Amino acid sequence: MVERTAKVQRSERYLAETQKLTHTGSWAWDARSQKVIHCSEEMFRIFGLNPQEHLPTRKNFRQRVHPEDRNKVDERFARVVNERDDSFDEYRVVLPDGTVKHVNSSGHPVLDGNGELIEFIGAATDVTERKRAEEALRESEERFRTLVQFSFDVYWESDAQHRFIRQEFAEGIADPPAPGSEIGKTRWEVPYLEPDAEAWRKHRETLDAHLPFRDFELARPASDGGKRYISVSGLPVFDKAGRFIGYRGLARRITEQKRAEEALRDMQMKLAHANRVATMSQLSASITHEVNQPITAAVTYALAARRWLSAEPPNFHEVDDALSLIVKEGNRAGEVVGRIRALIKKAPARKDAVEINDAILEVIALTRTEAANNSVAVRTQLAEGLPRVQGDRVQLQQVLLNLIINAIEAMRDVGEKERELLISSRNEPDGVSVEVRDSGPGFAPATLDRLFEAFYTTKPGGLGLGLSICRSIIEAHNGRLWASANLPRGASFQFALPAIANTAS
Ligand code: ADP
Repeated sequence: MVERTAKVQRSERYLAETQKLTHTGSWAWDARSQKVIHCSEEMFRIFGLNPQEHLPTRKNFRQRVHPEDRNKVDERFARVVNERDDSFDEYRVVLPDGTVKHVNSSGHPVLDGNGELIEFIGAATDVTERKRAEEALRESEERFRTLVQFSFDVYWESDAQHRFIRQEFAEGIADPPAPGSEIGKTRWEVPYLEPDAEAWRKHRETLDAHLPFRDFELARPASDGGKRYISVSGLPVFDKAGRFIGYRGLARRITEQKRAEEALRDMQMKLAHANRVATMSQLSASITHEVNQPITAAVTYALAARRWLSAEPPNFHEVDDALSLIVKEGNRAGEVVGRIRALIKKAPARKDAVEINDAILEVIALTRTEAANNSVAVRTQLAEGLPRVQGDRVQLQQVLLNLIINAIEAMRDVGEKERELLISSRNEPDGVSVEVRDSGPGFAPATLDRLFEAFYTTKPGGLGLGLSICRSIIEAHNGRLWASANLPRGASFQFALPAIANTAS
């Protein structure tokens, strides 16, 4: 008997400890007496009741239930008693000091042989801590979602094999993929229109090396048949043991930005073209002369040939010489016209390997008469063995043309004897540079920054677009264009371009 009592006491102690550990209290209610016949220590604690007093009544419990939850709890109890079924519920408990607890409760009806309710056994678990943790997690997820919604368009995660395991799209983004349709696929298994194979290869290298990446640009098909551009960034994720487990990242839509850039480029192309045509028309008198010269020469040779033919006896040798010269002059005229056509033609930017000295000499040839008409002495200092530069030959020639015409125009303000134009090219450590230097009035140091602004002009009929277009052309070639004072007087405009390796001639 004593032994049994000790055993029971021990198991009661274990039970009490377990209840404390799991924050779970138990209680029992007798259906006949309608009284609470058991209430564990933990139950007292959860409901903030005093175990020293007496067994609580259901009323005691009820008073501790949050007023907003009381009806719900009552209804449930009534249902359990009526329907004799197990029940589960969650409600709030308010302690006298105002502390609110969240309680998970379950109840089990005990029935006799006739199915009559004898007892009701209940358990209540204090889940306040868990609730709080859940709430904190939910809030942090909510905050994160807000962040993603406002700053990014897609949040994604991929596994160690680079397969998407999660994708969240911001509301209202155009053409999102069908929910889940890309889960389990790698980025390269999803339909993309761009980038090219080489860019993909590099991207895969980065992924396989588990390195972070930023602004990887992709284009995917849009429902309207066009393209949607996105820019993706990702960070590798490692577990506690340092093993790579995948990537987490964000993507932004950049379609609008891309369209704006395209429109801007288009606009610049149009402006550049308009400017080129304007510059060429300024040159029209000189060009007419340039074309007329070989034609006049050819006519003179033709007249001479006729004379040699009608001589007695005809001198066929001289006729043949004259005819050769006519062919030469004809070709020269053809070349001039060809160069002008190339310069005025509206063509998309090309990527040639340009020999800059050749390009310079052609532009000098085109402006030779203009320079002569303005009493400008043109000198060149072209470095030998220059590497080639990558870009659009005609655009680069347009830059030279602008700089030369600007210099000639500027020198109209100085005495005829002092008009000197020096065009030079140099080898630089990482490319080539070209300088157009004049002996005109130069410019005030304060205006140095403004020269390249669009619409800045000091000329009555000027557009003020030339230098700004020149700068965008050079920058589009990854180069730099700048101005400085030429000593003792005049202006110097220089541009530097990166060279293509191992292309020195
Ligand atoms: P525009 O020739 O239509 O004025 P630009 O953009 O080519 O347009 O030139 C802008 C301004 O820069 C010119 O109006 C002039 O004041 C100044 N400028 C350009 N080249 C020279 C130069 N070689 N010497 C002095 N000033 C120059």
